[in-house]
Amino acid sequence: MTSIHHPPPLRPEFDALDPGLLEAVVAGEVRLSVAQGLDLLERAPLHTLGRWADARARTIHGDRIRTYIIDRNINYTNVCTAKCTFCAFRRDADDHDAYTLDYDTLFQKIRELSDIGGTQILMQGGMNPALPLDWYLELLRGIKERFPHIHVHAFSPPEFIEFVHFFNPPGDTLADKLRWVMVRLKDAGLDSIPGGGGEIFSHPVRRKIGLGKCDAEAWLTVMCVAHELGMFTSATMMFGHIEGRADRIHHMELVRQWQDKALTEFPGAGHYKAFISWPFQRENTPLGRLREWGHIEEELAPDAVFPGDAVATLAGDGDAKSHPEFGRRLRMAGATEYLRTQAVSRLMLDNIYSIGASWVTMGPHIGQVALGFGATDMGSVMMEENVVSAAGTTYCLNEPVICRLIREAGFIPAQRDNVYDLLKVHHGPNSPDLLVDDWSKHRAKKLHVQTEAKPAPVELSVTAGAVS
Ligand code: SF4
Repeated sequence: MTSIHHPPPLRPEFDALDPGLLEAVVAGEVRLSVAQGLDLLERAPLHTLGRWADARARTIHGDRIRTYIIDRNINYTNVCTAKCTFCAFRRDADDHDAYTLDYDTLFQKIRELSDIGGTQILMQGGMNPALPLDWYLELLRGIKERFPHIHVHAFSPPEFIEFVHFFNPPGDTLADKLRWVMVRLKDAGLDSIPGGGGEIFSHPVRRKIGLGKCDAEAWLTVMCVAHELGMFTSATMMFGHIEGRADRIHHMELVRQWQDKALTEFPGAGHYKAFISWPFQRENTPLGRLREWGHIEEELAPDAVFPGDAVATLAGDGDAKSHPEFGRRLRMAGATEYLRTQAVSRLMLDNIYSIGASWVTMGPHIGQVALGFGATDMGSVMMEENVVSAAGTTYCLNEPVICRLIREAGFIPAQRDNVYDLLKVHHGPNSPDLLVDDWSKHRAKKLHVQTEAKPAPVELSVTAGAVS
């Protein structure tokens, strides 16, 4: 029998650092308000924040096991109609290095994954108007015919919104049109939907960085339709660029609200399984060419306010004109800012099961530390990565290294599937990491593609007007 979802109550009268409040949050008895979430992000001592997030993670997942998955990230095309300013991956169709992978290449990649015991593909691409619906249907059917055991986690919400534009399906509302497309893709073999393209939901930030990409409502509507159809999804956030800290909390709040909606309206059906956040990688991107905040004297003054913080509100309705430098200054997030943000996400998102560590961009050891800051999943043994590695240094870890990182953090590593059921718990001597004699052959590989950034599609300034 499915239980009825009752979100925990808010207790906004308490100070965010009140131990009684945080104990109740850890127990799942009280929900943090957005103001308390922001207060924690800005004011809580780093290790205190980590301890509360870790305690919450242990309440949900226990003290023993932390997980990873073996999957392959396949980017089937880099042709894209959008011009996100943080993206070094996209190409125009007539660029010399534009590509769309053919079916044989895609099947070969999946075969290689299957051969090493992988269970899932994460397949996303640019938004390529040259590919008709039948191209996707045939691809999905072909995958399921050849690899019925491989879970297909594919097509992020911005791709779905462009499917609606490209395929012009029948329907009166966006949700109707999405449902028409999604049902067909699901019948052909699509199993679940990844949370790519979340970035930051608040309108002023999204309008600056996600040029040609869907807005927050459309993104959330895609996921709502997926949940209604019984599919699991994930949510993501990319921070550490032009946004204010309140924007991050607003982003988490929208995920939490729409998760409540999924759990209430579609009990026992689809919902968000995981939340993963990571800092923006600047190399090779137009956005990364902005000047970093705090490099001139007036920006170092005690009363200087980062433009993103001046614009951001907890309701996501800030006015881009409230600071003349909004969208012109970057505030990159380092390791501690990443750990703080992730820890707050664990405490805010009381209705999300898993928080993923972001070692792909932060490096394996910060990913390992993240297991003490609310993360309970190390994500994927990566066979390839293209989108983020086009924008900066990223890392590639094999299964023994991931298992070792988890074990050295004090947990038993376990391979999971896409719904977080455990496939193999590695507590015996035959565990992948315990079989290794020579670790010099198992170093984390650095991936980095040095390319020339395409020119910024619009001037990144307030005077350029509302970028849409
Ligand atoms: S981030 Fe995705 S949607 Fe945006 S330009 Fe790059 S490939 Fe296109």
